[in-house]
Amino acid sequence: MKKKKNIAIVAHDNRKKDIMEWVGFNWKELAQHDLICTGTTGKLVDDTLRAKCEEHGAVPPTVLRLKSGPLGGDQQLGALICEGNVDLLIFFWDPMQPQPHDVDVKALLRITVLYNIPTASNRSTADFMVSSHLFHEDYEPTIKDYAEYITRDVDMT
Ligand code: PGA
Repeated sequence: MKKKKNIAIVAHDNRKKDIMEWVGFNWKELAQHDLICTGTTGKLVDDTLRAKCEEHGAVPPTVLRLKSGPLGGDQQLGALICEGNVDLLIFFWDPMQPQPHDVDVKALLRITVLYNIPTASNRSTADFMVSSHLFHEDYEPTIKDYAEYITRDVDMT
């Protein structure tokens, strides 16, 4: 992954306040990258970063807004990860309430492990991530070779 990263940000409704605080606090670091968000989170992230950047005379980052999570946004994000278009994921999911799209959330988390995407599900992890020197450097993550899986023999008898 390059110095300038594609950072995905998603938050469930009960965690949106937390993520907005984090985004507001880290606006300067985030403004150096491109962002990808699910619909509602994206609107909040975009508004917050625009306001911060305007206040400090900085250029706001690009925020690509996907569909809202329950309408397929998590699946869109999963597809972007499979295609190599997401470098990091900040995903504040709700540990206290089931979501209508729980299966999509599980699928997204599985894909992040499969493709070795650094993922933060809480503020502490997000803080460690944003303060890592790798956040602003080129980095080559190790990707497991699944070629054998694709060419495996499947017993059709
Ligand atoms: P939202 O979706 O950003 O549109 O609220 C997030 C989610 O629920 O996965």
